[in-house]
Amino acid sequence: MSATLHEREIEFLERLGRGETGGEIAAAWHMELSSVRTVAERLRRKLGARTNEHAVLLACQAGILDGRPRRHGDHAGYEAHRKRGETPCDHCREGERAHRRAMKVPAQPNQEAA
Ligand SMILES: [Zn+2]
Repeated sequence: MSATLHEREIEFLERLGRGETGGEIAAAWHMELSSVRTVAERLRRKLGARTNEHAVLLACQAGILDGRPRRHGDHAGYEAHRKRGETPCDHCREGERAHRRAMKVPAQPNQEAA
């Protein structure tokens, strides 16, 4: 399976994996249920899945989902975006900046004096 999934499709899988229904996802996205069903249909076709549950399973097996809750807003979330070839969301970009500030190697004393 080498299908490229859009961020929205991955989010759909993550939400399904948390047990959300199509109606709940439609509400969260401020979309019509029919539009969510269109997303789901395209996603199932890409993954070769027969049902939404099958799609979640295939996505886990393919490493698209790791089966753990998706974290946002820190270094791990940022890296997860990058691993998937996504543009990190603002929340994760901010978390990554804080991470880099925290991880910054302290300047050498002689550099600090400069
Ligand atoms: Zn994020």
